[in-house]
Amino acid sequence: MSRYSIWNIARHAASGHRRWAPAWRSPEAKKRYDVVIIGGGGHGLATAYFLASQHGVTRVAVLEKGYLGGGNSGRNTQIIRSNYFYPESAAFYDRSLKLYERLPRELNFNLMLSQRGVLTLAHSRHDMEANRRWFNSVKLNGVDAKLMSREDIARIAPSLNLDSHYPVLGGFLQPRGGIVRHDALTWALARGADSLGVDLLQQCEVTGIEVEHDRVQAVQTTRGRIATGKLALVAAGHSSILAKMAGFRLPVTSMPLQAMVTEPVKPVLDTVIMSGAVHAYASQSDRGEIVIGGGADMHHSYAQKGSVLTYRINARAILELFPWFSRLKIMRHWAGIVDITPDTTAILGKTPVEGIYINCGWGTGGYKAIPAGGETLAHTIAHDRPHPLVEGFNLERFYTGALIDEGAAAGVAH
Ligand SMILES: Cc1cc2nc3c(=O)[nH]c(=O)nc-3n(C[C@H](O)[C@H](O)[C@H](O)COP(=O)(O)OP(=O)(O)OC[C@H]3O[C@@H](n4cnc5c(N)ncnc54)[C@H](O)[C@@H]3O)c2cc1C
Repeated sequence: MSRYSIWNIARHAASGHRRWAPAWRSPEAKKRYDVVIIGGGGHGLATAYFLASQHGVTRVAVLEKGYLGGGNSGRNTQIIRSNYFYPESAAFYDRSLKLYERLPRELNFNLMLSQRGVLTLAHSRHDMEANRRWFNSVKLNGVDAKLMSREDIARIAPSLNLDSHYPVLGGFLQPRGGIVRHDALTWALARGADSLGVDLLQQCEVTGIEVEHDRVQAVQTTRGRIATGKLALVAAGHSSILAKMAGFRLPVTSMPLQAMVTEPVKPVLDTVIMSGAVHAYASQSDRGEIVIGGGADMHHSYAQKGSVLTYRINARAILELFPWFSRLKIMRHWAGIVDITPDTTAILGKTPVEGIYINCGWGTGGYKAIPAGGETLAHTIAHDRPHPLVEGFNLERFYTGALIDEGAAAGVAH
C-alpha cells in the first residue's frame, strides 16, 4: 500500500497524479475463506480490518451486494458521541470514540474528525430534569459532559432560536463529540483491510446460507459458492433476511431514516445541535452545507428512500430551531434502512447457528459505533466468545429479559 504523505503527494504531482495505485484491489472470489463477512458497510469493513490487524486472521472476505459504503455507512449524518445512559453502552461507545481519535493516524487517512461538541437541548422543566439525570449518569460513567444554561447556549450557538414554540431552557454538551467524514471512514477501513490481505468483493450478493447440523458450511452468492467455517452477518437493515436464510429469527424491524443537506453557506454553526422535543438535529459540514436529520419514517421498508411526509415534518421541525434556514435551498435528500431492536441497543455476538456471528440492531445511531463494533466482533470471531465490552449485547437478552433500554439516548439523539 502506498502511504499518503506530503512527500508522496509531491512525488505524484510530478506525473500529474496519474500513477496512484487503486486504494484497494478487486480480486476474484476464492472457493474458501476462514472468515466471510456479509456487508461492506463500516461495521463489516472494521471487523475485517481488526481481524487482520489485531488477530492475524487474513483469509477473510467481505461480500457486498452493491458498493462499499453504499448502505447506511455512506448515508448517515456522521455524528459521533459517547454520552449514553447505561454503563454497558457508555463503556462501549467511549471505546469507539477513543478509536475514532486514534484511527486517522493508524489508517494513514484523514477522516476529518471534528470534535466540535454535541449539544442536547432541553425545552421544559421536565426536559431539564431528564437532561440533568442523563448528565449525571454520563459523568458517573467517566465520560466528558457539561451542563449548559440558556446563556451558555446563546454564546456557543448564536444562530439558534431560543424562543421558538418550544423555548430552550438549557441542555448538556459532550465536548469530545462531533462529526467524522463517513466516506473517508469507509474508504480508510477498506484500504487498511485490503493492505493486510482481506478480499473485498463488491457486486457480490449473498442469496443463500448453507447450514448442516446447526453449523455453517458456505454461502451462495451471485459470484458463486464460497465455503467458510465462520460467517459474520453485518447487514444492518437486511439482517433479518440473512438470519432467515440461516434459519433463525431476529427481533429487528427495518425502517427508512432520512437526512437532507442545504446549499453551502458561510460558517454559522460550529457544534452539533439535537432536540428530542422538536425531534430534529443539525450540524454544518466542512463544505458549509447544513446537514439536517429528524425522525424515521414510521413504516417498514427495504427501499432506500423515505416519504415526502416525513421529509416535510423534519424540515418543519428544524425551522423551529433555526427559522432563518427557510431561506436555504435543499440540495440533496436521501434515506437508509435502519435496523431497530426493541430496546434500541445493538445485537453483537454469537447466534444459535455454530460459526455464525452477528452485528446489527444499531438503529439510527450505529455510525459512532463502527470502530468498537468492528473491534469487538473481530475479537468475538477470533476467540469464539464475546468480547467483554459487548457481553450484554447478546441475542439471548430477548429471552432472558436483560434488556439495555437506551431509548432516551437513541432515536433523534444520533
Ligand atoms: C439518514 C441516516 C442518518 C444517520 N445518522 C447517524 C449519525 O449521525 N450517527 C450515528 O452514529 N449513526 C447514524 N446513522 C446510523 C448509521 O449510519 C448505521 O447504524 C451504520 O452506518 C450501520 O453500519 P453497518 O455497517 O452496520 O451497515 P451498512 O452501512 O448499511 O452496511 C450493510 C451492508 O450490507 C450490504 N448487504 C445487505 N444485504 C446483503 C446481501 N444479501 N449480500 C451482500 N451484502 C449485503 C448492504 O448493501 C450494505 O452495504 C444514520 C443512518 C441514516 C440512514
